[in-house]
Amino acid sequence: MKVVVIVGGVGGARFLLGVKAALGLPPVGAGESPHEVTALVNTGDDVWMHGLRICPDLDTCMYTLGGGIDTARGWGHAGETWTVKEELAAYGAEPSWFGLGDKDIATHLIRSRMLRAGYPLSAVTEALCDRWQPGARLLPMTDDRVETHVVVDDPDEPEQRKALHFQEWWVRYRAELPAHSIVPVGAEEATAGPGVLEAIAEADAVLFAPSNPVVSVGTVLAVPGVREAVRKTAGGVVGLSPIIGGKPLRGMADACLTAIGVETSAEAVGRHYGSRQTSSDGLLDGWLVHSGDKADVPGVAVRAVPLIMSDVDATAEMARAALELSGVDL
Ligand code: GDP
Ligand code: CA
Repeated sequence: MKVVVIVGGVGGARFLLGVKAALGLPPVGAGESPHEVTALVNTGDDVWMHGLRICPDLDTCMYTLGGGIDTARGWGHAGETWTVKEELAAYGAEPSWFGLGDKDIATHLIRSRMLRAGYPLSAVTEALCDRWQPGARLLPMTDDRVETHVVVDDPDEPEQRKALHFQEWWVRYRAELPAHSIVPVGAEEATAGPGVLEAIAEADAVLFAPSNPVVSVGTVLAVPGVREAVRKTAGGVVGLSPIIGGKPLRGMADACLTAIGVETSAEAVGRHYGSRQTSSDGLLDGWLVHSGDKADVPGVAVRAVPLIMSDVDATAEMARAALELSGVDL
């Protein structure tokens, strides 16, 4: 079976552990299996900092599936130290608000060196995964530079607007500056990464992880060709709601939804993705919401099941429910 999952960082990575487990793969690391999991990973959060190319969502997926993640934090390395960050701060080097760990920096050094030598991000990711053995194919949504920007009222210049890199808005300002719009800069001219459209076309099931619908799943869907491929694939398409009881389970996805005029509810997010069958630009056949939540999404089969990723077993149950709703035989 070929399962494709559209993912962001922490929510996506945790969900991938469950998808692997549901297919009989070891959740962490690689193992023999007739099944194949391909993650299409958001790269809109990527950023150059201190001369290093940082790919937060790719790294979160790679470390989580490869067993190197700090499980409490959900991102970065287990046993991380912060000497370089402290030294940069001692120089007064900006930006100082971004958590760059010492171990993490090794990943960024290798990536940046390979990118500068001319390798595309997809090849760099494959090389990094040689070490981590995530047991799933991690495909950047594109090899091109796409960076999500957020338009806000300029905190320093009254009456003026300013576009911030998504990371600055999210990490530095904790998404507290109201967003007028969220734009995946470069997406329109981007080409889907190698294997991305093919994976969707050949999938037995396409799942939308309970990742941020705007700046994770939404950004992957903004790459030309991806929406059309999802609409056309013969495999069933099922999404899982990151919104539970009208709130994101963690993070500030509500601020992103508000910016695009979508209410923070499982129903509104399901409607935002829309029906593949009854709407001209919809994407879903099925939509999973958390037990007790209700959603009426015209043209989409909605089921309520527990959607809390408290451990791998609970997450594997979610993945099983999504795969069943997509129509595959487990
Ligand atoms: P990021 O790139 O690190 O921000 O992570 P993602 O975009 O992949 O996922 C973030 C989303 O995951 C947030 O909107 C959360 O609401 C959602 N999320 C986190 N944990 C859970 C969980 O246990 N269950 C569900 N349903 N959603 C979750
Ligand atoms: Ca992210």
